[in-house]
Amino acid sequence: ARKHGGKNGKQMFDTSMLDAARERHEIAQYIEAGLREDWFEAYLQPIVGMSDGRIVGFEALMRLNHPEKGILAPARIIGIAEETGTIGRIGERILEKAIGHLAVISRLEGTGETYLAVNFSPMQFETTLPHKLAALLLKNHIAPSRIVIEITEAVLMLDSPDVHAVLKQLGEFGCRIALDDFGTGYSSLSYLNRFPVDIVKVDQSFTRSLTADEVDVRRKSRMLIKGIRTISNQMGYDTVAEGIETLEDWELLKKLGIDYGQGYFFSKPMPIGEMLKMLESNSEAKATTA
Ligand code: C2E
Ligand code: MG
Ligand code: MG
Ligand code: MG
Repeated sequence: ARKHGGKNGKQMFDTSMLDAARERHEIAQYIEAGLREDWFEAYLQPIVGMSDGRIVGFEALMRLNHPEKGILAPARIIGIAEETGTIGRIGERILEKAIGHLAVISRLEGTGETYLAVNFSPMQFETTLPHKLAALLLKNHIAPSRIVIEITEAVLMLDSPDVHAVLKQLGEFGCRIALDDFGTGYSSLSYLNRFPVDIVKVDQSFTRSLTADEVDVRRKSRMLIKGIRTISNQMGYDTVAEGIETLEDWELLKKLGIDYGQGYFFSKPMPIGEMLKMLESNSEAKATTA
């Protein structure tokens, strides 16, 4: 949106800015209503082993399910929630729901070891987090070792004593830390030795560029992914590739030695009801072929 200098030094705004302001206001209202009326949902997307495609965990992805407007994705919510200070309450709601979902999933056969990965933005990283998490896990009979906290370098860039303390506490508690969207943004390499990381999630832009039109881009992307994989594994971290949309993506990333994968090829993020149906039909299929 552009801003024009108006007469007498007054600012005049063009209509696109007005529209943007109106939309922000609307979404801020949906957020408040969503917290009040319980419209927030934690969708789940499976994370699978690269070698065999077996589900090892689920990432919780926030959705605001507005009864009239439909599903709002996090990209439209998070920025505004951070500005208005509602991100903390949303995050707690998602955490609570997602842990509840993991407890339900755990009643199915063969899912007792699966983990739950939850995204945290910088503003959610407060000192009360480990305590709140511990209470939810206790209530749902979930071991802390089944929780992965996904953070981006934006959290680490804060480099505050609080962030260090919370990360340390979560680690001691038995949770794992995943560095999300790795390889994009600012210089992320130094974060690998300065913070306690367990999992490196290779950003989906790398997966995309593996099948780019230009041969040179494809070749260099393979080198980059292999390099990230080698560094991560040698430091003792597992790797997860994001954005696997095709069988070709899967095969290429498997060949490059990536440990785990996630993407539409395996499954889109789904509400808990659909996820349970999928897991149940998977295990029935296995039972009949066994
Ligand atoms: P992310 O953590 O990197 O999550 C992966 C995103 O990629 C998700 O988008 C997911 O739906 C999408 N995705 C998964 N597989 C594929 C694929 O094969 N192809 C493509 N093109 N996309 C795929 P989503 O759900 O819209 O979330 C976007 C971002 O919003 C997340 O990126 C995360 O940074 C943030 N986010 C989501 N839920 C939460 C939350 O509860 N709290 C916070 N703080 N952030 C969240
Ligand atoms: Mg994530
Ligand atoms: Mg990611
Ligand atoms: Mg991402």
